[in-house]
Amino acid sequence: MDERLSRTIEERTDELAALATDLIRFPTVNPPGDAYRPCAEFIADRLRKRSFGVEFIRAEGTPGDSDRYPRINVVARFDGRTRGSTVHFNSHIDVVEAGEGWTVDPFAGTVKDGRVYGRGACDMKGGLAASIIAAEAFMDVNPDFPGAIEISGTVDEESGGFGGVAYLARKGYFSKPKVDHVIIPEPLNKDRICLGHRGVWWAEIETKGEMAHGSMPFLGDCAVRHMGAVIRAFEEELFPALDQKRTRMPVVPEGARRSTMNINAIHGGQTDDYSGLPSPNVPDSCRMVIDRRFLLEETLAEVKDEIVTVLDRLKESRKKFDYTIRDVMEVLPLMTERDAPVAAAVAEGIREVFGREPEYVISPGTYDQKHVTRIGHLHDCIAYGPGILDLAHRPDEWVGITDMVESAKVMAVGLDRLLRGRGR
Ligand SMILES: [Zn+2]
Repeated sequence: MDERLSRTIEERTDELAALATDLIRFPTVNPPGDAYRPCAEFIADRLRKRSFGVEFIRAEGTPGDSDRYPRINVVARFDGRTRGSTVHFNSHIDVVEAGEGWTVDPFAGTVKDGRVYGRGACDMKGGLAASIIAAEAFMDVNPDFPGAIEISGTVDEESGGFGGVAYLARKGYFSKPKVDHVIIPEPLNKDRICLGHRGVWWAEIETKGEMAHGSMPFLGDCAVRHMGAVIRAFEEELFPALDQKRTRMPVVPEGARRSTMNINAIHGGQTDDYSGLPSPNVPDSCRMVIDRRFLLEETLAEVKDEIVTVLDRLKESRKKFDYTIRDVMEVLPLMTERDAPVAAAVAEGIREVFGREPEYVISPGTYDQKHVTRIGHLHDCIAYGPGILDLAHRPDEWVGITDMVESAKVMAVGLDRLLRGRGR
């Protein structure tokens, strides 16, 4: 890569580590959505000093938004001297709760052995810091660059992104002509490009019964036993079938390169918040939440049909069996093409920085790319960032300082290709 650009980023290694540390020190835990405002203001202050124009957008009325926990997003933009395309780096600033098992303070941003530790270190404040350093270094080396660079810090990704990227996408922040290319620095590892994700269907299945005294269950109809039959049918018919459905999507880890379903929850009968003894009732309702992850090769209609077929068969074979099914959430699978401009530009960065071909991957779960694509109708979007995905949400989460520096270089080459159109 360009020697000056590479050197400029390397010289800022300590600054990059310090920036990640500073970001980790805002305990932006979601839920409830703590410290969003000061974190957004911190990002804004930094970028304002670099002459970015800054906007704060509060996602009023979205889930969790309140005066105590306002959903504050920040979008910063720098316009180059001449017109050209716009590259947008989008990072979520929210993190999941720290949980147990830490050997360091999760919100201190401890630097140790070449790593920055803390909740959100890899997911994804390290990526945010890398993108800021990449953009600043690129601007310093190429003061006359054409086009524009945007950097956003958005909220609520961990809870679906409704008050973050989804809200902004609805307002036109992730559409042409405002933005052309989007890079989401999620922790997918510094030499991998994430092209998209599998689809999601969450649904609640309820089996119905009839209440009666628990001493005479034959007078009623137990909804929990009906749910037991549902699980048995899933075990016998559904899970083996899902296992057989392989995909051409390069999902990582390998185990997710197929259809999967998690039984997320089951509730039937008396809730467990009672005190004393349970009352002797036959439960008339049992509810199950399923989390089905599906593939480009499947349609959402097929995915739903598959479940309904199992349930309808039970209706025929099992006396009094009845059910309802309710959609909770749907996200279609997506995969950006490898030769899309942003994927090609970042691939060039990986070749130049690491001297090898990038690995193309698909995330097993979704992230904010879904909103950029589905709401913003912007298809030139990938996830690329430093950090090891497996460390996300775990105790002693960390990001390597060298990894951040190297991925900042890749991002800077990406900017160079997309804005200045250099290279192949
Ligand atoms: Zn994330």
